[in-house]
Amino acid sequence: MPHPIVRFAPSPTGRIHIGNARTALLNFLYARKHHGDFILRFDDTDVERSKEEFAQAIEIDLAWLGIVPDAVLRQSERFSLYHAAAGKLREAGRLYPCFETAGELDRKRKRQQARGLPPVYDRAALALSSGERAKLEAEGRRPHWRFKLDQEIIRWTDLVRGESHIDCASLSDPVLLREDGTYLYTLPSVADDIAQKITHVIRGEDHVTNTAVQLQLFAILAGPGRLPSFGHHNLLASVNGEALSKRSGSLSIGGLREAGIESLAVAAAAVLTGSSVALHPVGNLDELVGSLDLGELSRGVARFDPAELAALSARTLHGLSFEAVRERLEAHDIVGYKAKPFWFATRGNLLKFLDVVDWWRVVEGEIAPVVEDIEFLEAAQRNLPGEPWDENVWTSWTETLKNITGRKGRALFHPLRLALTGRENGPELAALLPLIGKAKAAARLSGRAA
Ligand code: GLU
Repeated sequence: MPHPIVRFAPSPTGRIHIGNARTALLNFLYARKHHGDFILRFDDTDVERSKEEFAQAIEIDLAWLGIVPDAVLRQSERFSLYHAAAGKLREAGRLYPCFETAGELDRKRKRQQARGLPPVYDRAALALSSGERAKLEAEGRRPHWRFKLDQEIIRWTDLVRGESHIDCASLSDPVLLREDGTYLYTLPSVADDIAQKITHVIRGEDHVTNTAVQLQLFAILAGPGRLPSFGHHNLLASVNGEALSKRSGSLSIGGLREAGIESLAVAAAAVLTGSSVALHPVGNLDELVGSLDLGELSRGVARFDPAELAALSARTLHGLSFEAVRERLEAHDIVGYKAKPFWFATRGNLLKFLDVVDWWRVVEGEIAPVVEDIEFLEAAQRNLPGEPWDENVWTSWTETLKNITGRKGRALFHPLRLALTGRENGPELAALLPLIGKAKAAARLSGRAA
């Protein structure tokens, strides 16, 4: 395939949520799979609602997910391109001024509905004479501008949905420019897709109808040979089927990060939910590339379950290599020769990454032992083997204790765990004990904080 160029085009009017991450990742992984480029484009032509702080937060959220764009664009810096595109449409007789107010349009729609007609714009503005237009302008009315659709059936082979078509006669001519001269999403999006030579437009299925309109715009502005492919993926919804929104804070990428969910779990859930591949933990994003087959995404709404995500996050942690977490451990001063064996000893017990801090205290810091059976612990302390210790010390020591005391099972192990770690449960002591070391172990067995 020729070098693909894809884009993720959020409007920076809020934080992105896991559903937006799905779009971003499907694009990013598509580029990875086919050695293409991924462009991050901020659709910020709505200057009132777009905020630079949201653009920055989106870049941070994407980076956390492992998505680093090959280029970042802001539509607010590219108005000359859109003016040129609008000019071209005017010349082609495909952009026409309309003077109806929102209230007038609303009344028209109600009348159509009352008569059982679809609420499609009646093109009344096209029938205005130049005199009528001049009169409206003299009254101080400013027009909004609509794209005159060709009333034809538009067909395309969707990368997800297969053969698709939309009858443009069933659509209203879309408004491209508002009264105040600002652009709605449609025209800038096409102008940029052409300028950036986007080869594949991969986005949510809420944009299917836009595709018919946009394909007509492409044909005028870029010529028929330059059409991108389109793929519309199913949307993620909550467990009870509601659409996710920018306001559902807990499912925002930032919210999930703050809740201690692993980024790779978020990525796996965003990509695999509602696909033919079962949710499973991954060690890096490239592992998801293999699961990416746009044609295999299901057509139904993909229900996203936060409880499943939390479980997936823990399973993800359990499989992460030391290299994958080295820097994060360092950030908590978990360094030195013990750091690596410590990671392997504890990762299988973590629900959240931050749990490592408590286990590191058990290994390197001071804890208060829990003393359950002082006599037994004294015997245990007297029989601690000499150092150096390796992973066999636990077995040989507890074998000795078993022989001396006749204890076995929980009666043997539980008091030792409580004294050595201060906790009921935790990682295998065979792995922890050599990290705790003899001096600390002896002190804790004697009931002293160490
Ligand atoms: N700004 C649009 C959105 O966030 C982009 C849609 C598209 O990918 O064309 O929905």
